[in-house]
Amino acid sequence: MRYFSVERLEDADAGQWSGEYRARHRWGLSGVECPRYGVWAEMDAFPSVELSGEAASTLAEQRWPTTLEEYNRLVALVRPLVPPELPVRAGGSFGPMVGTARGKFGPITNWPSWEVVLREDAVELLKAEGVTGVIAVRMELKSRRSNMPALYELEARPLAKLHPDCIGEWKTPPCDICGRPETFSLPPKRWLLRSSIPEGLDVFGVEGANLHVVSERFVEVVQRLGPADVTYQELPAA
Ligand SMILES: [Zn+2]
Repeated sequence: MRYFSVERLEDADAGQWSGEYRARHRWGLSGVECPRYGVWAEMDAFPSVELSGEAASTLAEQRWPTTLEEYNRLVALVRPLVPPELPVRAGGSFGPMVGTARGKFGPITNWPSWEVVLREDAVELLKAEGVTGVIAVRMELKSRRSNMPALYELEARPLAKLHPDCIGEWKTPPCDICGRPETFSLPPKRWLLRSSIPEGLDVFGVEGANLHVVSERFVEVVQRLGPADVTYQELPAA
């Protein structure tokens, strides 16, 4: 099986779809001010995860960087509500995106670079064709167009890893004060660690990178719905 990451068009003006949205996830964990490294936040998004109780009411509001003490309290509130294979860390967001949209959307959209959005007919076709691992969460978007098709955010759970050889030396070590994991900048030439690829899934994410990885089967099915303003960059495995 071949795998690809969903990427934006290099020339944004070459796109043919006008769709735009302004939205954010219902719940967000704020950035944290680490005494050693300063303020940081990641861009993890798990729209399928529903929060409740105090975690939900607190994370619906608070989005500004917080002290380490308050951050640790928030992580402890949220952790039990999130599947154990998913990270809970500063900047992480949960629940559906809520906001407004306008224009016309193609079958798949990659904007901003860390979000992938599917049109309703794309979700239906992927499911009908038995493409696996598609976690698509309906976005709660208001639009002036009454016939705007529903849009879904594609969740990418960080189940695979990039190959250590392509990450090379560009790494920041983990922090034992705030619990920030090791981070790296996304190498321009990248490939997957073969042993980390989840078996039987056509969609997944990559640890430490905001990538939506899809199989060639996924690409083939979505392309049946016509042109989209995305490109697919092959991710070899070794
Ligand atoms: Zn730290």
